Amino acid sequence: MDNCIFCQIVEGKIPSEKVYEDDDILAFRDLYPAAPVHILVIPKKHISSLLELQEEDQALSGKILLGLQKVARQLGLDEKGFRVVNNTGSDGGQTVFHIHFHLLGGRELQWPPG
Ligand code: AMP
Repeated sequence: MDNCIFCQIVEGKIPSEKVYEDDDILAFRDLYPAAPVHILVIPKKHISSLLELQEEDQALSGKILLGLQKVARQLGLDEKGFRVVNNTGSDGGQTVFHIHFHLLGGRELQWPPG
């Protein structure tokens, strides 16, 4: 999608600090990190939010989860743990409407979130 910043990151039109990429997913550092490690894992396919996932996206959804695991291991977060967050819609605090999963770690995280 032309006006989607994450699609533009996938296409290389907007720079990003990539940490993992394969045919289906991309992981890059969040521009405004909320933790010492803050990665966004996204499908390359434009899907606006969790609510827009379709049955046909089942395999892709699994790849995203396994991608999160792979990146967590790659960045050494498997030792002490980490958090995966998906914000959906306005109450969820979603600001970019291309589905993404925050991978947060590198410090002890508080619960519940605000
Ligand atoms: P959310 O609020 O869940 O929609 O998350 C969107 C995230 O995208 C925020 O944490 C932003 O800091 C991050 N973000 C926005 N623009 C960029 C960008 N160009 N590169 C990396 N992260 C970005």
